Amino acid sequence: MIWKIFFTFALSCDFVHQTFASDGEAWNYEDHGPFLWSQTYPECAGRQQSPIDLGYFNVTPRKFPSFWFSPHFNSYLPFTLKNNGHTVVGELAAQVHPTSILQLSGGDLPGIFTFTNFHLHWWVQMMTELIFLPREGSSPTVGSEHTINGLHGAGEAHFVFTNLMTKQVAVLGFFIVVSPDQEQTAWRSYVDNAVTLIREGTHFNFMASLMKLMETENNFQDFWRYNGSLTTPPCTEGVIWTIFNSHIKFSNDELSALSLNVLHKDFRPPQPTYNRIVYHSTLTSAVDSLRCFFSWLMLVSMFFLIRLNSKM
Ligand SMILES: [Zn+2]
Repeated sequence: MIWKIFFTFALSCDFVHQTFASDGEAWNYEDHGPFLWSQTYPECAGRQQSPIDLGYFNVTPRKFPSFWFSPHFNSYLPFTLKNNGHTVVGELAAQVHPTSILQLSGGDLPGIFTFTNFHLHWWVQMMTELIFLPREGSSPTVGSEHTINGLHGAGEAHFVFTNLMTKQVAVLGFFIVVSPDQEQTAWRSYVDNAVTLIREGTHFNFMASLMKLMETENNFQDFWRYNGSLTTPPCTEGVIWTIFNSHIKFSNDELSALSLNVLHKDFRPPQPTYNRIVYHSTLTSAVDSLRCFFSWLMLVSMFFLIRLNSKM
């Protein structure tokens, strides 16, 4: 077992080295990681970068129209999974179906967006990387790119779309959580195939329904929206981000298998928001309830203070 782990890590290290050496673009998530990207790719130091920290208070509530997905999102279609040296991307096997069968609109997106790819970000920390020991029963999986009030999710899934008329990119993002139950999710087949793609350039075909992969509890209603960038070099800005406040479930074993076999980690930490507006789609009622609660708390406190003063 020890030898197996050692062998896997040896392959991973070799893989990282090859990523750096073969594409000549000098970026990865290790020795030429996110903090150095702007030296080669100046836009990575821009003021509209992604990911960012999200939250519930410094956001603007806003009502959005519903998203519309073309019917083939529900179909099982052939996708090609490919290790591109930075993650494993899933693209529609275009020789079988044109990408135009997967279209997204609504949600206040400017126009019709066509599916480009999906991929994941993850990080399963090794013992030497732990800042705090994880609580009993929890796992050191903290590879989401966006955070909520400074806290990382276990990982993050991105579904990338492009408006073919304007070339603008829109990404739908979902947080990954580690579920203790070994559920048979739509992602199991993805993991089973992705973990075999140890070397850059290797690929595998598998069947999947995008709607099943995106299936979460909030039905595309509860999300954050802001203008950002690609989270990988060249960090191009002008990307419309929609991050759903919902979770895709993975088991700890599935994330560990990706981390051990494909890449140890592949996430960029949150970037400064600067003066960007971050919208939240369903915040109105939550914020109103909280405001109501704090107003009530203040009234009660004032009442007791006045009573206390009158007795003194
Ligand atoms: Zn991504």
